[in-house]
Amino acid sequence: MKKRIPLCSRCFFCGETAETVVHLFIHCKVTSQLWRLFLCLKNISWSMPGKIAEALHSWEEKGVHAKNRNNWRIVPASIW
Ligand SMILES: [Zn+2]
Repeated sequence: MKKRIPLCSRCFFCGETAETVVHLFIHCKVTSQLWRLFLCLKNISWSMPGKIAEALHSWEEKGVHAKNRNNWRIVPASIW
């Protein structure tokens, strides 16, 4: 007889809710804190949209006039 082991589906970082891609990338308080820290250090005013695709699009628009677009574009991937 196989023994069933329940897997924890809670977020690895905060443990507060189910670990979904949207939670990890957008709503998790740990990820949000990293974003706030980065935005504060760079003095950037930006609010995180509720969906990943919208966040990437919004970030791309925000960085239209960035001095180094390649560095700007790598920020979301670096934080996530
Ligand atoms: Zn979380």
